[in-house]
Amino acid sequence: MQPAHVGPRVLLRRLREVMAGPEAAQTRLNKITTLIASNMVAEVCSIYVMRPGGFLELYATEGLNADALHETKLRVGEGLVGVIAANASPLNLPEAQAHPAFKYLPETGEEVYHSFLGVPVLRSGLILGVLTVQNRTQRHYSEEEVEAMQTTAMVLAEVVASGELDEVGEAEEVDLGHTRSHQLSGASFSGGVALGHVVLHRPRIHITNLIAEDVRAEKERLSAGVERLRESVDTMITAPDLARSGEHREVLEAYRMFAHDRGWVRRLQEAVDTGLTAEAAVEREQSNTRARMMRSRDPYLQERLHDLDDLANRLLRILTGTTGTAAGGELPKDAIVVARSMGAAELLDYDRDRVRGVVLQEGGGNSHATIVARALGIPLVGQVQGILNLSDTGDSIIVDGDSGEIFLRPLQSIREAYGEKVSLYAKRQAQYTRLRGEAAQTRDGTPINLNINAGLLMDLPHLERAGAEGIGLFRTELQFMIASSFPRMDEQVSYYRAVLDSAGDKPVVFRTLDIGADKTLPYLHHGQEENPALGWRAIRMSLDRPALLKLQLRAFLKAAGGRKLSVMFPMVAEADEFRKARALVDEEFAFLTRHGHEAPTELRVGAMIEVPALVWQLPALLPLTDFVSVGTNDLLQFLFAYDRGNPQLAAQYDALSPAFLSLMKQIVEQSEKHKVPLTVCGEIAGMPLEALALMALGVRSVSMVPAAIGPVKTMLRSVDLAAAREVILPLLDHPDHSLRDEILRFASKSGVQLHG
Ligand code: PEP
Ligand code: MG
Repeated sequence: MQPAHVGPRVLLRRLREVMAGPEAAQTRLNKITTLIASNMVAEVCSIYVMRPGGFLELYATEGLNADALHETKLRVGEGLVGVIAANASPLNLPEAQAHPAFKYLPETGEEVYHSFLGVPVLRSGLILGVLTVQNRTQRHYSEEEVEAMQTTAMVLAEVVASGELDEVGEAEEVDLGHTRSHQLSGASFSGGVALGHVVLHRPRIHITNLIAEDVRAEKERLSAGVERLRESVDTMITAPDLARSGEHREVLEAYRMFAHDRGWVRRLQEAVDTGLTAEAAVEREQSNTRARMMRSRDPYLQERLHDLDDLANRLLRILTGTTGTAAGGELPKDAIVVARSMGAAELLDYDRDRVRGVVLQEGGGNSHATIVARALGIPLVGQVQGILNLSDTGDSIIVDGDSGEIFLRPLQSIREAYGEKVSLYAKRQAQYTRLRGEAAQTRDGTPINLNINAGLLMDLPHLERAGAEGIGLFRTELQFMIASSFPRMDEQVSYYRAVLDSAGDKPVVFRTLDIGADKTLPYLHHGQEENPALGWRAIRMSLDRPALLKLQLRAFLKAAGGRKLSVMFPMVAEADEFRKARALVDEEFAFLTRHGHEAPTELRVGAMIEVPALVWQLPALLPLTDFVSVGTNDLLQFLFAYDRGNPQLAAQYDALSPAFLSLMKQIVEQSEKHKVPLTVCGEIAGMPLEALALMALGVRSVSMVPAAIGPVKTMLRSVDLAAAREVILPLLDHPDHSLRDEILRFASKSGVQLHG
């Protein structure tokens, strides 16, 4: 008969005594192995610790040759210990030597032992080491014993993670997985580069109290915590804005199912039975989930495991009484906020002077946090797999919002390279600031009107900072996208008024709601569309739902009482659409003056040229408009029939192609002929080489992201426009895919400055 081991609770109590003892770390580790061996009635107990470079080093042993200490090292995947680390799961073998991964290590003297039980030492899903016991006899360790070993390993993880082992063995730092350097890549959603320190948006909860004093009381705490968790999930799922059916609903239902899952709760209860506190039990289960998450390649399973991980986090917060995010706490001056995902309001809770960048494990190009980050000029990289598991508050980190790369705990060489990049960037910024008061005119004296694109009130300070002449495109939909319900008339009026107030004397061109395609309003039912980019969007929606448009037009007119107002319509496909839209403006204007409201001192109504068909109707359209603005993002997408949001096609067609430049030339000529002012407000207006080509075609007004004003102004002040025209215009008949190389050649030969 096998001798029964003493219950895990007794072991945990004794472990706690050892851990609280005054001895040096090595002595303490030795005592721990002796204690575990005697508790498990095993002849051998060994502790392997993960070291830099991915080696598991024998750190303490009861039963193996003492000479092997700090000598025996196994790679992850090598030998039984390596296999446990690789799979992050226990191995329970009556005959260890029969296992294909068994590796004979002569220095240990372990050949006399037959049975083997090893468990991973895990913390937050990371492998910190492996704990093993061995017996001479062939025995199968019971499930209870495996449980007890896992609980012990969890306590051990605290010792390893505490940093105490640094003084053991060689002078090197112990690698906890959390100390290694990692390069990760994601999607760049907001440009720029930042060096700083990680602030976990939801700070990791560090549990200090692992061992339960009173198991019954602990189980009650756990049950009460689970009950509160279920209630909070139920409340979340029935919230009015989520209660509608749809895909999100299914996701939430799956989430609720997990919260009610008996298997999950049973595993937590069993862990408490072994002597852990309720929160330690949750963390142990969470560690197992994360280890599975890291191993799994199945996206469906990954999602489900994410749900479980999230639930465990919520439960931990309930049990430890911690709520909220890091926004309210002490922030370093160079905070890089790391989160799974984040709402716009949550990002705005942070002190803007301290946040240098944002990294999201999920997040999308049009998520609200992304929109806000862009407005604030903060680099943001999203869809960075694994960032939450790998990083911890205080880690150094580099966010490259241009390439989408993240360097966590970067090596010195990378830090230096990026440091140079950042200081070069700062130097250029200083140059651009100095340029602010200089005239925006070409070397040969042609003045160019430089404006910025904006969409939130927080964009307005850029107008002064960049030294722009006005806002050439104010995307009003951003306010609507960030709101949780349709903004009321008075909210819209005060918003537009605030925009006009902060723009002061500088003109603002408001664009009416451009909703549809990738810009959706959660509170406005849109229905499924096969091709949303070609679907019910922008002016089409506005004309079909005139009440919404009229509300917005009235808000513009009211807000601009006594001052100038410019309004333009997006995605106009034919002159008739513009005519109808303009009639609504006139109607609202008449309504307001009839009711005694102060009218704008000047009203200009314009159309965006984004749909190629409209180019053939310019002779009919232009006499109806006060100005036009070319949205090249959409115009390019529809001209070349390529999806502007598809990264695979991003480099497929070039704005510097003969087709596109010829089309632009036609638009410029028509607007000159009809004496209708023209602006270009798509992204290419802010790219120095593309802007050069546009100016060569006759464009004299551009609107762009604020950060592009400096580089574009630098370019135009260095260009001789007459020479550029002479080179570029004859190229338009060429059959080439792109004229980029030739325009570049001209620029470098004639000293045009193109950085930025
Ligand atoms: C465009 O299409 O070029 C444009 C300026 O509008 P948006 O990018 O908002 O569609
Ligand atoms: Mg557009």
